[in-house]
Amino acid sequence: MSTAEFAPDGDEHEPIVAPPHKVYPKKVLGEFRRIKWGIQLFTLTVYYLLPFVRWDRGPNEPSQAVLLDLQHRRFYFFFIEIWPQEVYYATGLLIIAALTLFLMNAVAGRIWCGYMCPQTVWTDLYIMTERWIEGDARDRIRKDAGPWTAQKIREKLTKHFLWLLIAWWTGGAWVLYFADAPTLVYKLATFAPGCGEAYMWIGIFTFTTYVFAGVMREGLCLHMCPWPRIQASLTDEYALNVTYRYDRGEPRQSVKQAAALRAKGLPAGDCVDCGQCVAVCPTGVDIRKGASLGCIQCGLCIDACDGVMEKVGRPPRLIGYDTEMNVKRRACGQPAIYKPIRARTVLYAALIAGIGGFMIFTLATRANLHLSVLHDRNPLTVKLSDGGVRNAYTIHVANMNPEPRRFVLEVAGAAGAQMEAVGAPRDAEGRIVLDVGADQTREARILLTIHGGPADRKPLPLEFSMREIETGRSVTARDAFLWP
Ligand code: SF4
Ligand code: SF4
Repeated sequence: MSTAEFAPDGDEHEPIVAPPHKVYPKKVLGEFRRIKWGIQLFTLTVYYLLPFVRWDRGPNEPSQAVLLDLQHRRFYFFFIEIWPQEVYYATGLLIIAALTLFLMNAVAGRIWCGYMCPQTVWTDLYIMTERWIEGDARDRIRKDAGPWTAQKIREKLTKHFLWLLIAWWTGGAWVLYFADAPTLVYKLATFAPGCGEAYMWIGIFTFTTYVFAGVMREGLCLHMCPWPRIQASLTDEYALNVTYRYDRGEPRQSVKQAAALRAKGLPAGDCVDCGQCVAVCPTGVDIRKGASLGCIQCGLCIDACDGVMEKVGRPPRLIGYDTEMNVKRRACGQPAIYKPIRARTVLYAALIAGIGGFMIFTLATRANLHLSVLHDRNPLTVKLSDGGVRNAYTIHVANMNPEPRRFVLEVAGAAGAQMEAVGAPRDAEGRIVLDVGADQTREARILLTIHGGPADRKPLPLEFSMREIETGRSVTARDAFLWP
């Protein structure tokens, strides 16, 4: 079914995304506006202040709760420390994030866009700043159309200065996630040497925040973001969307005309065609024309219309979170159907729980020790003058514990092989011993030599193991011994 088909007064040739025009959203108060403020306050507070939250991990460990330490290739998130070889956790998080987006979409359409997307949150902040300086929509339209007076210039300069300040603070907060925040703030404030890269990123984020939230605003949602198109292909008839209940609203007429019709026992719609739902819309959508890719599901038109309905003495929610199917059912006198629990929502929730549970389990039971082996590529094998064959390997050991550890290196699968580790001593029992510092990695080069060997010269599967002397815990990695 096309958008135009179910649009009550839509033109089938009308574009489903509004053409570019400047939108002056009017201020509105109400339930959904309060929810948006709450989420905005929470997300902005988290974003700006999280780098300053401390978390004690012991001596020689960073004390920042959330830190992306690119220099030492670690990601710290409170009690979790992710090493480069555990990057699959990041993949798992991305999959969970995508599934959560799908679940939100299956339950209530683009609520991510309307309430939580950074573009929406920052644009809302910019519009609030603009409104504070230049007044509400009517004032802004009048001033923009009017001549350049001293007051207009002063207000425009103040607005853009505050926008740049917010943008600069946003970029400043971003870099604090990559270094110890208090130290970096001090360095940046005192122009300490070595901060060039941080200044560059602050500059990039200042520019992008200012352009995206101040200049492009809803244009980015309408013309650049791919999610509305993806979302439209993922949705179904049970997903709640901000919907104009035209079964109740049509035909539109003035309050007086509606009262007269009702007095005669004739049907009259509740919509008084006041245009308030369009006036408050941050993307300039007229939701009465039906579903639109421009609608970010923010619910502000619901607040606007509820206010109008209260004034004209009609029930609220002429616009509400509903489905097109329900509007049609009610128009035919059938009851509405709401199905938040259905196959796709259960599937998404189960996948989120399954992947999340698996990640928590593996995080809780991980060995805090990692071993990887890399066979020399060139040459693969070396034939020695005494007839023996040598293969060389590089091993990487990661000790993820906050204490130093001592390991014994062993190899299984190559009977009679002589093993040497360059730079690693043998202990009194002849074992190759590797000391790895607290929270550090160590690399060692291993030379494995075999005299004789099998006649068929097939590769020998090997298993390298690192066994911790103190606890007996071990970790293994597989490779092979090759013949010339
Ligand atoms: S139509 Fe309503 S819900 Fe959609 S973006 Fe506009 S105000 Fe928000
Ligand atoms: S705010 Fe409500 S009454 Fe006014 S035009 Fe929109 S739908 Fe109609």
